[in-house]
Amino acid sequence: MSAVVQSIDTSATDEREQTDGFNLIIDALKLNGLNTIYGVPGIPITDFGRMAQAAGIRVLSFRHEQAAGYAASIAGFLTKKPGVCLTVSAPGFLNGLTALAHATTNCFPMILISGSSEREIVDLQQGDYEEMDQLAIAKPLCKAAFRVLHAADIGIGLARAIRAAVSGRPGGVYLDLPAKLFGQVMDAEAGRKSLVKVIDAAPAQIPAPDAIKRALDVLRNAKRPLIILGKGAAYAQADDAIRSLVEKSGIPFLPMSMAKGLLPDTHPQCAGAARSTVLKDSDVVMLIGARLNWLLSHGKGKSWGDAPKKFIQIDIEPKEMDSNVEIVAPVVGDIGSCVAALLAGMGGWTAPPSEWTGAVAKKRDENVAKMAPRLMNNNSPMDYHGALGVLRTVIKERPDAILVNEGANTLDLARGIIDMYQPRKRIDVGTWGIMGIGMGYCIAAAIETGKPVLAVEGDSAFGFSGMEVETICRYSLPVCIVVFNNDGIYRGTDVNSAGSDPAPTVFVKGSRYDKMMEAFGGVGVNATSPDELRRAVNAAMDSGKPTLINAVLDPAAGSESGRIGNLNPQSKLKKK
Ligand code: ADP
Ligand code: MG
Repeated sequence: MSAVVQSIDTSATDEREQTDGFNLIIDALKLNGLNTIYGVPGIPITDFGRMAQAAGIRVLSFRHEQAAGYAASIAGFLTKKPGVCLTVSAPGFLNGLTALAHATTNCFPMILISGSSEREIVDLQQGDYEEMDQLAIAKPLCKAAFRVLHAADIGIGLARAIRAAVSGRPGGVYLDLPAKLFGQVMDAEAGRKSLVKVIDAAPAQIPAPDAIKRALDVLRNAKRPLIILGKGAAYAQADDAIRSLVEKSGIPFLPMSMAKGLLPDTHPQCAGAARSTVLKDSDVVMLIGARLNWLLSHGKGKSWGDAPKKFIQIDIEPKEMDSNVEIVAPVVGDIGSCVAALLAGMGGWTAPPSEWTGAVAKKRDENVAKMAPRLMNNNSPMDYHGALGVLRTVIKERPDAILVNEGANTLDLARGIIDMYQPRKRIDVGTWGIMGIGMGYCIAAAIETGKPVLAVEGDSAFGFSGMEVETICRYSLPVCIVVFNNDGIYRGTDVNSAGSDPAPTVFVKGSRYDKMMEAFGGVGVNATSPDELRRAVNAAMDSGKPTLINAVLDPAAGSESGRIGNLNPQSKLKKK
């Protein structure tokens, strides 16, 4: 992508092939296989988006930078290559920054590229258009942050960004490109030479043999062992090795939310439906790409019971060890290499005592049987179980579809009810438990995998990124959104005891989110019973047409903050 610039002097010898910042950024991205950009155009990157598209890069243009950023973050998770988000200066940058921080927190590789205002004016604080010291603001919120001032440094700048994003523990990287850089002209040949194709961007990190031996010794002596698989294990794309390890060991496994499907939730060793039992009663826990953070009650306290525990942890980040409790067998390395080394060291392996595996299986089967009848109800308006029973069957019949899930009750219940069968098919609110990832995740999942996408969205959660239904329609993506509409946040039944304003947690009653989709040429359906929901979802998944189904739920269905009500402080005085 270099332009031949004719000098005014027409003598042939003065003709020099030149390139500029615009072209060098595009060339550098393509050279490194970064062929998709998620973003929002505007000053100073409008022309860049056009030129990138003309050069064969897929440029997905969103309605809000946060959704574009979330798309880039999950593209990173799904592909192991940094997802690229492109934003305009100051406000656009800040909108994208939430997603960059989210990527870093979740260990997803992402690069936020933002245009910025001129250094000379910003640094003297003379009030430039959209003035902001973006690099300084980004730094504490991401894994690394870089600024490129000279066209000749674009190649190195992008190479550093790629390495920082994907090597070691993956995360978000900020790349600051001031407006003037885009138009900087340089000799095309020198420009070509300045580009860097990153070699082995995420080198294997081989675990020490001692660490492997120590881990196997602890595991071998366990009476009630448990394996917990986290989204790091899903990210690693070491699916076959992980499956072999779990099956050879005979140890029950518990998948964290986004690790569901690494082995099918219906696998005989899956302890998903016996979660409280295995956390309480296990004596040795091997964590594979999962952190002992709030999602696992920090590895201590009531949910972990009184039985003494020993933890083995496999993680690429050495600092993760002992973060919450003592890790007796730390195994530091990439999951693919660590799991392969464990497998190689297992030799003749004795399965854990059958009293343990039998007790876990019994508990699981009881819980599954208890749930089954509730999932088959055809109540109208629907409750969560009736609606989710339908979606559970949809995913069973279409195991390669990608499930996007956010909300409070909608999240907690869907996570437990909808079985997953294949790796990296469930993407959700992640480490922060945030709302707003929905439509960005749908768009990136459809673009990066080409598979149909089913989004199960609380009505509140949907609202954070709902305008992106236009984006979904514009690119004709095979996305079916089901909005669990119970008229509000948690529930739609709150009343204001002091005036005529609605209570803070309720929305317009009887809203018709389906009509939003129709406004942009997609399919909208209002479903009031599980039967109607089933028909509408199947039609959408068969046709691949952008569809939004307004699933009418009982406004009284749902509980405050879903399963994490304990984290939501409540005044004891107000109810006097
Ligand atoms: P979950 O929420 O599913 O428990 P977390 O995000 O808490 O998962 O943990 C993921 C862990 O996986 C992080 O500590 C991260 O360092 C680790 N990780 C990510 N990718 C790899 C990899 N390729 N090899 C080893 N560890 C990894
Ligand atoms: Mg709701």
